[in-house]
Amino acid sequence: MTSADNRRTGGAGHRHGAVKGLVQSHQPSLNESLNGEVQAFLTDEDQLHTYDDLTKVNPVTPTTVLQCLQARYSVKVFYTHAGCTLVALNPFQPIPDLYTLDVMKEYHCAPQPQEFKPHIFIVAEEAYRNVKGQLEPVNQSLVVSGESGAGKTWTSRCLMKYYATVAASSVTKSQDTVERIERRVLDSNPIMEAFGNACTLRNSNSSRFGKYIQLQLDRGQLLVGASVQTYLLEKTRVSCQPANERNFHIFYQMMKGATAEQRREWKMSHGQHFVWLPNSERTREEDCFHETVKAMVHLGINAERQKQIFRILAGILQLGNLNFSSSMDESQPCDLEEQTKDFLQRAAELLCVPAEELQTCLIVRMLKAGKQSVLKPCSQAECSMRRDCLAKVIYAHLFEWLVTLINNSICADESTWCNFIGVLDVYGFECFYINNLEQLCINYANEKLQQHFVAHYLRAQQEEYVTEGLQWSFVKYQDNQSCLDLIEGSPISVFSLLNEESRLNRTSDAKTLRFRLEKELHVNSNISWDKFSKDPHFTVAHYAGKVNYQIQGMVEKNKDPVPAELIKLLQKSEDPLLHQIFSDKETESPNSKGLSKVTVVSKFKNSLESLMKILHTTTPHYTRCIKPNPDCKPLTFKKEEVIMQLEACGIVETITISAAGFPIRILYKNFLQRYGLIEKRSDFKPWSRRVDMEADDSVFIRQEVEKLLHSVLQHDDVDPLHKRENEKHNSWVHCGRTKVFLTQLMLDLLEDQRKKIL
Ligand code: ADP
Ligand code: MG
Repeated sequence: MTSADNRRTGGAGHRHGAVKGLVQSHQPSLNESLNGEVQAFLTDEDQLHTYDDLTKVNPVTPTTVLQCLQARYSVKVFYTHAGCTLVALNPFQPIPDLYTLDVMKEYHCAPQPQEFKPHIFIVAEEAYRNVKGQLEPVNQSLVVSGESGAGKTWTSRCLMKYYATVAASSVTKSQDTVERIERRVLDSNPIMEAFGNACTLRNSNSSRFGKYIQLQLDRGQLLVGASVQTYLLEKTRVSCQPANERNFHIFYQMMKGATAEQRREWKMSHGQHFVWLPNSERTREEDCFHETVKAMVHLGINAERQKQIFRILAGILQLGNLNFSSSMDESQPCDLEEQTKDFLQRAAELLCVPAEELQTCLIVRMLKAGKQSVLKPCSQAECSMRRDCLAKVIYAHLFEWLVTLINNSICADESTWCNFIGVLDVYGFECFYINNLEQLCINYANEKLQQHFVAHYLRAQQEEYVTEGLQWSFVKYQDNQSCLDLIEGSPISVFSLLNEESRLNRTSDAKTLRFRLEKELHVNSNISWDKFSKDPHFTVAHYAGKVNYQIQGMVEKNKDPVPAELIKLLQKSEDPLLHQIFSDKETESPNSKGLSKVTVVSKFKNSLESLMKILHTTTPHYTRCIKPNPDCKPLTFKKEEVIMQLEACGIVETITISAAGFPIRILYKNFLQRYGLIEKRSDFKPWSRRVDMEADDSVFIRQEVEKLLHSVLQHDDVDPLHKRENEKHNSWVHCGRTKVFLTQLMLDLLEDQRKKIL
């Protein structure tokens, strides 16, 4: 039995031991006779903090689970198992001694790490050992989820550090030029965080992209490289920062960490204000810039390349300060506001494009009429949109290029690695006051992952039932396929309609899409509409809750159009990096039918599907990060916040699934130890089935248990209706090969009868 199985089935392994304070020191007294099989029967509130697996709290309900987590949090215990999932509560303060090298080594070297207190290192170590597989090696994936600020990125970093430590290769390769591979893999984090993270209302270091990193292991299970795949960078943040939020960290790092020479080079005068850099004063970034640069050096990004990168970023900032004055005459283009003309000059110089052409691109658009091109002046609003679009397209492509560069630096040669452990850090389920295409994509990804999780979890349960000789049919569970059909199914789904609307070259109309959605999808019970709402919207019943999606702007976001003139301009750039990044980009004229154009949702769906394909070939391990309070306050636990997240990440679902079957499993021997005394009850009617005296111990003991159970069920205390029901379906109890499987009802009955004797 693997350690994962051990946990899923109730952790028959005893948890007593004496490894340097890592082992659970106290067990509930009720438990002692049961040796950890079922951690407690009726949860004693004073002992709640000692349960290290939520599915063992009895009865297991959202309320008891919540109480248990709260009790643990109050004694600074942040990790708890929930069957095959690990729940990680964010302490919001550094916890000394929890992640040290020594602790890593202890988990790594322990013969049975799962006997230690729950920890992210158990998951890490389990995956690491599972790579070997029983018959052949199996790749592993660690799925880390949770809402913004819950601790996903922190956990992913922690996992990477663990492998970079315990699986470090001892040979030093070409150390003079670039750092060793473990260092480089870790150094990819600060770079990606500088470019892809930002300070938001929910998290001061919020990742604005999803990431799947594969840690590549050689035959000897040493870390020899890694590769990163990113998803959906929130590029709109470059030109539009929500109130009280900030732009990507890298811009602030540059501003605060630059030397006088760099400022000159970036054409930044002292104290210059940048519109796209709100809330600059909020954090100290001086050191971070040097950290980022240091990481770049370690990854082999030389000084010249760095200069190019920062110059482009400085150019983007200058673009942000451009303002357009409206033109009185519609046939005349808008002009730049006088005081912003300087910025245009600087932006053009930094991006190495001719200033006049840059200006023309921003204020005039080119329309194709047949073979001829017609120039049409843009309105003031259109000019601003084009400015934003230019910044976004540069930033998004720069980010993509950087990820490729990181991959080139850390990816091992194919011949040197044979297995991988993948770490997935993706945005959790989102439900805001206003939700649009971004949330639809994110929640769709979460639906996909939830389906994967449920399938995996049910499979694990099913496997145990099969080994114990039980039938599976009694667990009936409705999965979320119908919601996925609604979003991505074919031929008709929200995505397909959205794509059709996006490909029709007409001004998108929210009402039309709203009408089509209702007409074509009303048969799916997961979609609904509020008839009284003023704005066109639709509501999707996700597994984690209902979300209202605003339709206004959705089609436009899905098209994500980039005017061809802008791409052409960047292709002309004399900056070698910009030139390289855009040299192979196709341009699309705004009037072409554009039927082949890849929309945002189709691109996202494809990348998610390839991710799911990879996940399906691996053994998954789930970690659910929970944010105990919305204000990121240390050691503060808000029940309402936590329960909502437990629901959203499927923990409540997991509990429901386990309750749908036989959530309580007890070894025969332990069962008799606890309930054997029921036979001593004066009104007990022994069930007189003959016991096979020839049978070996285990069969004998099983027959004893069956006898006892039968008598208990026949007892006068039991409601006759329930009796009949149970006889008909045998629905309260099952006897497996080594264990008794019970429903909560049966357990209550046994406990009741036992209490009457005590
Ligand atoms: P997410 O990626 O889920 O949005 P982060 O991983 O960025 O969230 O975590 C948010 C913040 O919470 C971190 O910056 C860190 O300060 C804190 N944090 C998260 N996990 C831990 C932990 N295990 N110990 C201490 N602090 C943590
Ligand atoms: Mg994050």
